[in-house]
Amino acid sequence: MARRELKGKVQTVLGLIAPEELGITLPHEHLICDATTWFYEPEEASERRLVRHPVSLEILWWLRYHPFQNWDDLQILDEKVIIDEVLIYKALGGKSIVELTVRGLYPDPPAVARISRITGVNIIMGTAYYVEQSYPATKVDMDAKSEEEIAEEFITDIIEGFGHTGIRAGIIGEIGCSWPLADNEKKVLRAGAHAQKATGAAINVHPGQNEMAAMECIKVLDKAGADLSRVIVSHIDRAVREPKNRLELAKTGCTLEYDLFGREGYYPTRFRVLDIPNDAQRINELKELADNGFQNQLLISQDNYTKSSLCRYGGWGYGHILRDVVPVMKIKGLSQELIDAMLIENPKRLLTFV
Ligand SMILES: [Zn+2]
Repeated sequence: MARRELKGKVQTVLGLIAPEELGITLPHEHLICDATTWFYEPEEASERRLVRHPVSLEILWWLRYHPFQNWDDLQILDEKVIIDEVLIYKALGGKSIVELTVRGLYPDPPAVARISRITGVNIIMGTAYYVEQSYPATKVDMDAKSEEEIAEEFITDIIEGFGHTGIRAGIIGEIGCSWPLADNEKKVLRAGAHAQKATGAAINVHPGQNEMAAMECIKVLDKAGADLSRVIVSHIDRAVREPKNRLELAKTGCTLEYDLFGREGYYPTRFRVLDIPNDAQRINELKELADNGFQNQLLISQDNYTKSSLCRYGGWGYGHILRDVVPVMKIKGLSQELIDAMLIENPKRLLTFV
């Protein structure tokens, strides 16, 4: 396929569509995903009992405060379960989902295409490398790979498709970044910028665990020539906690994504001690950014990648924003125009190839 065919279109796992077909879109989710790269063992003997326990209602109380310590919880692999979960979102009016399971999280394009066919929900898939600690899962020697080679991989995924599947990527990301930012991660960011120039795709970045991590990623991308108006910074609700830092970030032209809706009050202290906002506080922050003129640079999602985040296992599922959050936004006085910007217009603009 030639690049000019992409221009003005959105590329789903089932092919090109017109941007108007996207409708309500979740810009950062995981459908079929193995995030065991995050797994670590608890030290207390009594808790070690829970490490290999299958996810169930009996241990949900424990899982909620131990998000990276149960092996089973970090895997969402059952297509049938995911199809049911996606249908809950569809029944609420959801039309499209961006699946950002990338190298390091065991991406499965054929499974994602099957989920899209069965549910009728548009799915856009990302191409990237996740954080450095997940590189072993890719079986790739990243030290040996050049920036150009990585860029070429991303371009191939967009133009030709993943491997021999013929299923093509529609966005670059989420590009995994740690703190401090690793040299290989910088290389992947620069490769992302090159692939953006070659294809016209948007870029999504996962910043590391530091207040300044997001800005550092933006600086690397900017220096490599990325179009910052087509760069999305994920996880603002844990990554950038000072209002002034969010405004600085927004002024670069990038899009700020609040994608942890449904996760409340706690983040593992081994990463960083910080106050995770609850949904009401997320809504307040979004309103503040919109009031400052950044309405067109905001996205919202749930970043579901664990079993316990799915309805089947006692979580909120993919329908949380539409079912539970949007009504609160309305009560809190957010305009329909702002809600539509976050759920429809901004995803549409960013996912359309330029
Ligand atoms: Zn993610």
